[in-house]
Amino acid sequence: MKIALIPGDGIGPEIIDAAVKVLNAVGRFEYETCCAGGAAIDRFGDPLPESELSRMKRCDAVLMGALGGPKWDSLPGNKRPEAGLLRLRKGLGVFANLRPVKIYEALKEASPLKTVDGVDFIIVRELIGGIYFGRRTEGDESACDTMEYSAQEVKRINEVACRLARARRKSVTSVDKANVLASSRLWRKQTEAFYAAHPDITLNHLYVDNAAMQLILNPKQFDVIVTENMFGDILSDEASVLTGSIGMLPSASVGHPGEIALYEPIHGSAPDIAGKGIANPIATILSAALMLRFSFEMEKEAAAVEAAVEAVLNKGVRTVDLGGGADALGTEAVTEAILKEIG
Ligand code: NAD
Repeated sequence: MKIALIPGDGIGPEIIDAAVKVLNAVGRFEYETCCAGGAAIDRFGDPLPESELSRMKRCDAVLMGALGGPKWDSLPGNKRPEAGLLRLRKGLGVFANLRPVKIYEALKEASPLKTVDGVDFIIVRELIGGIYFGRRTEGDESACDTMEYSAQEVKRINEVACRLARARRKSVTSVDKANVLASSRLWRKQTEAFYAAHPDITLNHLYVDNAAMQLILNPKQFDVIVTENMFGDILSDEASVLTGSIGMLPSASVGHPGEIALYEPIHGSAPDIAGKGIANPIATILSAALMLRFSFEMEKEAAAVEAAVEAVLNKGVRTVDLGGGADALGTEAVTEAILKEIG
């Protein structure tokens, strides 16, 4: 099993180092270090050179730190690190972004909400279609973005949501804006047709504005949320604050079963703390656990990593972002504590 590593920018190299140590504790892997984002702009003048993408595609899975930082902020849009990220997702064909949102008992107090007890759901966001990739015109007096979906794109994202729901509580909530948008009406019609053929799954629909409220009012009602690209982008960031810290949340971006997938924490490159050795590595370590589960079918090892993370949190291990204060542990010490739990 060969893993492409993209350390990227800011805290990226520090958290990727931590995840590799954990992966090596539970399995044997080959690694191919690749370059993307600001690091690739500095080295190649391009946030994602074709040669780097080809090297990644020859691997079984990709584990990424984070891309971007103030150094590259003044570059034009298509030359920035973010442009490399969009091309990376499209180039790997990873059309479904999965973000599990789980509240750890030990971190309940860190959540800004009182409604998070027992929350455990996963957002499935369509990742390479919709308004971020649609036709675009931009002038000084008017501008236009286009949200377009095909029946096939709606079907394939629901195949991912359905597979996940079957392994969970068998409930899917589809989020759209079918009262206004034509693309959402197609989304709803195709989603209904899909689940009519999969009657073991309970399907609900929510308009996106209501879904934004429900995530705060009663997040426990959700099992699997499936939605289009922009709604998913916004809702998954909203959902991430339920857990108390952005440093905890992993993500997986997948295509069809058996194809290459991309794993990364949901946070960015945290330039304000880069190089200080205090970044929370848990989101990246949990992303590596998702890789073990989804790409390598190593469920036992994935569960062992997740259990080790939960155990160190229960023992009171905290990084700065988790409110560790004067006793906060740094990246290496937290990683060592997790490795010790894995045994
Ligand atoms: P950010 O997520 O990098 O940081 C937001 C805040 O959270 C900062 O105070 C940071 O210190 C803290 N934080 C983030 N991750 C942490 C961790 N693991 N441990 C402890 N604290 C952590 O968001 P930002 O500041 O808006 O963005 C910084 C750069 O990252 C920008 O260039 C942005 O474009 C990029 N970015 C990249 C990705 C990606 O690669 N997928 C995602 C989001 C942002």
